[in-house]
Amino acid sequence: APPVLAVVGRPNVGKSTLVNRIIGRREAVVEDVPGVTRDRVSYEAEWNGRTFTVVDTGGWEHDAKGIHRRVADQAELAVDVADVVLFVVDATVGMTATDEAVVSMLRRKDRPVIVAANKVDDAVQEADAAALWSLGFGHPYPVSGVHGRGVADLLDAVLAEL
Ligand code: GDP
Ligand code: MG
Repeated sequence: APPVLAVVGRPNVGKSTLVNRIIGRREAVVEDVPGVTRDRVSYEAEWNGRTFTVVDTGGWEHDAKGIHRRVADQAELAVDVADVVLFVVDATVGMTATDEAVVSMLRRKDRPVIVAANKVDDAVQEADAAALWSLGFGHPYPVSGVHGRGVADLLDAVLAEL
């Protein structure tokens, strides 16, 4: 089976938008309202002649009380079957408590993690991305899922880990 890339992060950071960029199609459901992506949907992708599977995540109920835990638990299910994890953060918002819950889970795992600082639509927002160095997962990759900015460099980094 091809290697697996799991795309995780809290609702609305742009995971599905980024997945569509990565697969070069518009099959992942993008929504302005968080929480509609079905649990763990897999797609075939190819980059630089290598085939891999991309797993988009989401689908938890939007109930405020358990949201941090629920997002982290959903992400964990995908991470456990992945070879590499793409942790997506909304760079324009920065780290929230829900993002931190995902990070805590990721630190307990031995999977390689690549940080995508999404919604960096132009150079002005690059500074927001740099703040994510502090997570300790190495170089944060500034990307724009909507415009495709930075996605080639991100995929080169992903492929280097697969
Ligand atoms: P998910 O819940 O993490 O899968 O997020 P979605 O992909 O459904 O996107 C949530 C919202 O963020 C949608 O309104 C997207 O259009 C928007 N969005 C996603 N990526 C970007 C981006 O790179 N830049 C901007 N400005 N908006 C984005
Ligand atoms: Mg989604």
